[in-house]
Amino acid sequence: MLNFHEKPLDTQTEPSSASVTTILSAKTQVPLDCDHCGIEQNHTIEYLRQLPKLNCAHCEDERTFSEFELGILENALKEMGFYLAS
Ligand SMILES: [Zn+2]
Repeated sequence: MLNFHEKPLDTQTEPSSASVTTILSAKTQVPLDCDHCGIEQNHTIEYLRQLPKLNCAHCEDERTFSEFELGILENALKEMGFYLAS
């Protein structure tokens, strides 16, 4: 499952500005848990946008990253004030 909300990105925002938007590179890595063994692996947003098959390096579980999950991820980023560069 997507576990992104528990791992805020290590990006500094400026608290002095009224409305802060941080532009995130598509090369930013986000951690995703393996559904099977729960171990996290990092994938770049750019890679996840291709809706790839994700292979766990630990248990070799394979699954497809869905458009639905991509939507959740991008929404979560938006709510945290991150704007994704395309
Ligand atoms: Zn696994």
